[in-house]
Amino acid sequence: MRDKYLLPCSCGKKIPVETTMAGQSIQCSCGRTLDVPKLQGIRRLERFVETSDTPRKTSSRAGRALGIVLIGLIILAAGATHVWWTHSWRPVLPELNLAPWEMWLIWQRDLRQGVRFPEYVESPYMQDMKVYRMYLTFGYVIMGLGIVTIASGAVVALTGRRPDRRPAPRGTP
Ligand SMILES: [Zn+2]
Repeated sequence: MRDKYLLPCSCGKKIPVETTMAGQSIQCSCGRTLDVPKLQGIRRLERFVETSDTPRKTSSRAGRALGIVLIGLIILAAGATHVWWTHSWRPVLPELNLAPWEMWLIWQRDLRQGVRFPEYVESPYMQDMKVYRMYLTFGYVIMGLGIVTIASGAVVALTGRRPDRRPAPRGTP
C-alpha cells in the first residue's frame, strides 16, 4: 500500500495525493486546480490514514458476539445460582416415613385421577413442594435462556465470517 497525504484546498477540502503525483496538478471537486508539491513538500503534508471498512466491521461483530456470549454466561450463572439456592431450602418431610418422591408420586397420581386429598394438597409440605418446583423450573428456564443467548452469540460470530469467505462471484456471466 502506497503512502497517501492530504493536500488542502482553499475550499476546505483535503484531497488525498500519492507521492507519484509529485509536481503534477489535480482538480478539487470544487473546481480549483491544485498544484501537488514536490516529493519533500508532499512528505510535509498531513498523512492520509486509509480506513478500510472490513476489519472494523468484523471486529465490531466479534465484539458484539463476545458481548452476547458474556451476557449469556451471566444469565446462565444467575439461573444456576437460583437453582442452587432453591436446592438449599428443598422441603423435607420430617414427620412422615415417606420419601419426598413417593409423596410427590402419590400427589401426582391423585391429581391425575381427579381425586383431591385436602390433607395432601393443603399440607405445608405440599405447598412448599409446589413453590419449590416452581422456583426450580424458573431457575432452569433462566439457565435455558442463558444457553440460548450463548448460542446466538456463537451464531453471530460464525455468520459474521461468512461474507469474507464467499465474495459473491455471480455478478458477471
Ligand atoms: Zn476545493
